[in-house]
Amino acid sequence: MRMTYKLLTKATTYIMILFLFILTKGITNDEMLILINDQNPVPNNWEVELVNFGRLKIAKIIEDPLTKLFEQAKSEGIHLILASGYRSKKKQEENRKNNIDFLIKTEKMTLKQAIEETNRYFAEPGKSEHETGLAVDILSEDFNRFDEGFADTDAGKWVAEHGPEFGFIIRYPKDKVDTTGKAYEPWHLRYLGKKVAKEITDEGICLEEWHTKNLKKETLLIGPKQLKN
Ligand SMILES: [Zn+2]
Repeated sequence: MRMTYKLLTKATTYIMILFLFILTKGITNDEMLILINDQNPVPNNWEVELVNFGRLKIAKIIEDPLTKLFEQAKSEGIHLILASGYRSKKKQEENRKNNIDFLIKTEKMTLKQAIEETNRYFAEPGKSEHETGLAVDILSEDFNRFDEGFADTDAGKWVAEHGPEFGFIIRYPKDKVDTTGKAYEPWHLRYLGKKVAKEITDEGICLEEWHTKNLKKETLLIGPKQLKN
């Protein structure tokens, strides 16, 4: 009797561990691979554990790969800087407003022109990947401007080539502007994990195309909290 009880307890434990493993794995994957753009806003119940990275915040899940990417770059003489990490919806709104004001005052644009130009780089609040904590803007000590010219620097080339080895892709490539709806941003990296980052890089596609190919539409809108329930 005691033996059967022991065996049963053991079996239950194994089943529970297996179940937890499957559950945890599912959440992590969906969290990591979520598609955020104008058509797919950040889910209202999006929850992400944040950690400090220098003076900025990033998702805890990308802390280790990002640290490794920075360390590897440094060992090859490339001094990267984290220019932006996690941004709240409110901060995204402020940044957009500041940029619109700047374009009107300094570049003498009309309000309509300023909004159109801002839309090329700044997603509307609730539609920015930075709100997930999974996206970072990376520049270097030698080139710290948000300018396409970053792509031609040693740091820009290094990040594009080696980013996928750490699970990061250039999210808005030069030849995918029509598909992503965003201007070329050689500094904006998105974490997807090594497997998918490599797949996307090898196939020369963007995240929108990868989602169309691999996932059903409804999967795209599932946030981690919904999965937990
Ligand atoms: Zn960015």
